[in-house]
Amino acid sequence: MATINDNYLKLKAGYLFPEIARRVNAFVEANPDAKVIRLGIGDVTEPLPAACREAMVKAVEDMGDRDSFKGYGPEQGYAWLREKIAAHDFQSRGCDIDASEIFISDGSKCDCGNILDIFGNDNAIAVTDPVYPVYVDTNVMAGHTGDINDKGEYDRLVYLPVTAENNFTAEIPTQKVDLIYLCFPNNPTGATATREHLQAWVDYARANGSIIFFDAAYEAFITDPNIPHSIYEIEGAKECAIEFRSFSKNAGFTGTRCALTVVPKNLIGKAKDGSPVEIWKLWNRRQATKFNGVSYIVQRGAEAVYSEQGQAQVKELVAFYLENATIIRTKLSEAGLDVYGGVNAPYVWVKTPSGLTSWDFFDKLLHACNVVGTPGSGFGAAGEGYFRISAFNSRDNVNEAMTRILSKFK
Ligand SMILES: *Cc1c(COP(=O)(O)O)cnc(C)c1O
Repeated sequence: MATINDNYLKLKAGYLFPEIARRVNAFVEANPDAKVIRLGIGDVTEPLPAACREAMVKAVEDMGDRDSFKGYGPEQGYAWLREKIAAHDFQSRGCDIDASEIFISDGSKCDCGNILDIFGNDNAIAVTDPVYPVYVDTNVMAGHTGDINDKGEYDRLVYLPVTAENNFTAEIPTQKVDLIYLCFPNNPTGATATREHLQAWVDYARANGSIIFFDAAYEAFITDPNIPHSIYEIEGAKECAIEFRSFSKNAGFTGTRCALTVVPKNLIGKAKDGSPVEIWKLWNRRQATKFNGVSYIVQRGAEAVYSEQGQAQVKELVAFYLENATIIRTKLSEAGLDVYGGVNAPYVWVKTPSGLTSWDFFDKLLHACNVVGTPGSGFGAAGEGYFRISAFNSRDNVNEAMTRILSKFK
């Protein structure tokens, strides 16, 4: 009989979102008239910018004409898109990133998992706690961890707790780790990183020969000019960091699918025999072999994000969600709750009141206010006692949810 990848058996059964759905469904069944507002899942709600839609309609027309029809494109993405990204997202901020170092893909979630293809199985890996679960689960699947304990921690992973006590900033580890996942602005805590914090990580990585996986999926939500948008704004980062970006959260491409990964040419890893190897060459080979590029139509849609009209529309979209976040922060504070994040980020991270667990607070909000959020403990052991509220929703839903919470908690 065919054997399977046993590492999959180590995965904690997809617990968080199914359990949320189970509790919400049970509540709705018992209370069919309740108007439940979901501020839980991290998906966008507003339609695609007009500039992107128009560009995609035109691209469909291109596909209908023998002269402009496109078959397989470059596996790395079309040069016209990579060049716009390099100029607009990186060079304009003083980052020395070339178009050839940008790889277009169908999602940052996929890239975060796929990148492990080109790294060894004996690396020490650090993640923050709480964390975006994809970083952990893809390492479990790849056999980079041992078993899970009762707290939900996998053996062999290094967890760096982030809580209100350390201002949601992980301490630089004292032990040596080889791969480090950082996400700023952060999902789930909504925290951002200062230039000094990122410099400390880059210095650590260079001193230890480590590589940082920097997830910048939410960089468009940064409005404070002092907060770096890219790890490459930090001196030395080109020698130690891979950056993941996505059109999902800035331009609403969660269902359209387009993202990018930056692999600098001076990034070096070590082969078993100790010889240095260019990471870029491995990723280029990996993509050319296992991936056939993002659809021409979708890449034209992503390109339109960089037009004058596209820029204005994306700014407006992001500002809309940020205003939601401000409303959530303000109202929850008025309700007497301790709130974090929600500035330069679309997530508000709430301390659960009076010692309630994350799931206690979930039940309380669901039953008293008919509002659904995400229990912080679902993102890691150190998320216990916290709760994530997402700003991705209509203004009406946000206002209504906050009115209900204020009436019950104040
Ligand atoms: C939403 C999100 C992404 C984007 O993923 P896509 O696959 O590009 O949609 C990446 N990282 C984090 C932490 C996210 O929350």
